[in-house]
Amino acid sequence: MKKVIVTGGSGFIGSNLVNYLIKKRYFVINVDKLTYSSNKLKNRIRNNKNYKLIKLDINNKKRLIDVIKKNKPKAIFNLAAETHVDRSIDGPESFIKSNILGVFNLLEIFKRYSIKYKKTKLIHISTDEVYGDILKGRSHENFPYKPSSPYAASKAASDHLVSSYVRTYKIPAIVTNCSNNYGPKQHPEKLIPKLIYNILNNKSLPIYGNGKNSREWIFVEDHCEALFKVFKKGKIGQFYNIGSNKNLNNLEICKHLINTAKRKIKIGPNVKIKFVKDRPGHDVRYALNSKKIITKLKWKSKIDFKKGLEKTFLWYLNNTSYYKSLSKSDIEKRIGKIK
Ligand code: NAD
Repeated sequence: MKKVIVTGGSGFIGSNLVNYLIKKRYFVINVDKLTYSSNKLKNRIRNNKNYKLIKLDINNKKRLIDVIKKNKPKAIFNLAAETHVDRSIDGPESFIKSNILGVFNLLEIFKRYSIKYKKTKLIHISTDEVYGDILKGRSHENFPYKPSSPYAASKAASDHLVSSYVRTYKIPAIVTNCSNNYGPKQHPEKLIPKLIYNILNNKSLPIYGNGKNSREWIFVEDHCEALFKVFKKGKIGQFYNIGSNKNLNNLEICKHLINTAKRKIKIGPNVKIKFVKDRPGHDVRYALNSKKIITKLKWKSKIDFKKGLEKTFLWYLNNTSYYKSLSKSDIEKRIGKIK
């Protein structure tokens, strides 16, 4: 059976990708440090014979070399990262360590490994946040990087490192930049699962600033499918944007969610939109031009936002143990305001 390594495979996108790859009949080795944002749900995957979890920081050179050499994977999907913008405002150091130094470590290992194992691909998963504010139009792959938060800057640095290793050392790597994901198993520090948590607990719905900040929303399974396509058909050294072409602002998201919830449950009297202090440096809009992956790799996002949101809401409604497995203050405490 073919093996692949997914780093960060206990996180939101990583855990969905692990499921996707197992369904595609790969043996998946998940290398994850198991931080606060990792998934502690006791799901079926744990006992799957085609899955192995290795608790490991991607900065640990010796052990990471052993894992890669022992398993000889066809691909390494690198999703291990610190990911919450508000946290990066309060404490950027862990972002520098995991997102930049961790990727540097992985690249140094991969550089040597790929001399002998030329066919193993490194797929480095990044974000649309590296392009910074896109007030009009949509950013294509050749847009300049202009990150606004320490999180986005750390991801931008890692993308540049990957690209420099491709050019200088000819490593077989590809970078993907995806827009905002939503779906099951996302930490409720992020907008959609946080709003669902508040709806289920009869709490107000906090919206940063005026609620007009716009993001391009993609269902996580669409992203996983795109990553698989990139692994199979993507061209070495290329960057691929991955988006749904569907932008919505935070206020619109909130209204969609209230409507979705009303169709499924009786919502409490405190579930009302509440405007709160904005995030410092908050980008107004991200929007990707994903024509390259659509035309060159024949991938397209499939899941319509309303359907995806309903699926997402129902998952949290039916898996409230997920919220219980996390620290309450990590869900409820407002961070990233700078005083
Ligand atoms: P997440 O926070 O849910 O999961 C990240 C996972 O990485 C966690 O399980 C964590 O334990 C692990 N991790 C962190 N540092 C590590 C380290 N040093 N070594 C090993 N494991 C480590 O994040 P996510 O939303 O699933 O994002 C995954 C990747 O996708 C990230 O690289 C992120 O930048 C990128 N991305 C996310 C989105 C999104 O909307 N969520 C959009 C585009 C790109």
